[in-house]
Amino acid sequence: MKDLLKRLDAHYPEVREPKLPFRRFKHETVLSLIDTLKNNEFFKIEEIARSIEGRPIQSITIGSGNIRILVWTQMHGNESTATRAVFDFLNFCNSELLTADYSEWFNQVCMCFVPVLNPDGLERYQRRNALNIDPNRDAARRSTPEIRALFSLLESFKPDWCFNMHDQRNLFNVGGTKEPATLSFLSPSTADGKRNQNQSDAMMMIDKLNQALQDFIPNKIGRFTHEFYPTASGDNIQSLGYRTILVESGGHVKDVEREVARKMNFMLLWKAIELTASGNWSKGTALRYSEIPKNDQKLFDLLIRNVGIERNNQVVFADIGIDRVEIPASLPEGFVVKSSIREIGDLSHYYGYDEVSADGAVVNVELNLNEVADFTLKNNNETFMKVVNGFVVHG
Ligand SMILES: [Zn+2]
Repeated sequence: MKDLLKRLDAHYPEVREPKLPFRRFKHETVLSLIDTLKNNEFFKIEEIARSIEGRPIQSITIGSGNIRILVWTQMHGNESTATRAVFDFLNFCNSELLTADYSEWFNQVCMCFVPVLNPDGLERYQRRNALNIDPNRDAARRSTPEIRALFSLLESFKPDWCFNMHDQRNLFNVGGTKEPATLSFLSPSTADGKRNQNQSDAMMMIDKLNQALQDFIPNKIGRFTHEFYPTASGDNIQSLGYRTILVESGGHVKDVEREVARKMNFMLLWKAIELTASGNWSKGTALRYSEIPKNDQKLFDLLIRNVGIERNNQVVFADIGIDRVEIPASLPEGFVVKSSIREIGDLSHYYGYDEVSADGAVVNVELNLNEVADFTLKNNNETFMKVVNGFVVHG
């Protein structure tokens, strides 16, 4: 379809799920959204397992084609961007926007979604499951019900393509640049370290996805490196011979709720359908995949350059790298942010989503690492700038 992504971009506000405005939500919202699909026979809904605390883990399958695509999200309970995008995608399919040129693809493609593989983690908004086990380190032993559900679905659904959807921390930038990695990709490694055909195929698919999405987030897509994690799900699933693509949603300037990455996930899912149905994924190359810049970890939420730090009648000049840590709170978005200093020193080769210069103004308190703190910078005893709850407030 010509200009597929432009059309999707234009229609996105109509399908963006309004009940998921924030990254933090409860599992009952997910269940109620799945319920609304039940009276449309286009969607086949199944309970595939229960979590440790008995929460249903459901799959939603659409299409009748031979090309089988499996998408799971939120294996880590606090990584919700792709879950929100999946419901945007399902809204599109549940609307009059699903015209013949889109729905024809579902004669070729069968797509199975598991939104929220780790509902107990979602309920607590934590990475791990209710037993504090990281499901993404249980893929070799397969002891947790969440990971067992995923692997039995692999056996029954037999996907041609797997999309393993996560979120990464804000600190990831596109290597060698100040740009945040709003999306990152990886074709995970296999246990024997030899690149098998499905790993190469996943690289080719990623190359095509990257090319398509660069139009919307230019230079904001990175790539993870190929270390093999013996207990991680992507690596194990790739080793079993399923083409596996890891997608990590990341930060963007002035986008606390990751709406940019969310929309990119929505577009990526459609692009994957187009590429598999047309076979055009095979026009991607592993070489171009390897040219996607590697991720680096050089971003702070707030970077204040050239701060004066006074001690024993001497002044040392340093940059201060600050993270905005989220403290749970009874607010619609579910948290407030506080300043936490991650680094003090020469941060010339680091970047900030927000960057300011203190012009040598002197800080009023002792700075400690990894502590929640606000502070004031003074110039000749006049307040030059205040840092309050992770943001600069000018004095
Ligand atoms: Zn994750």
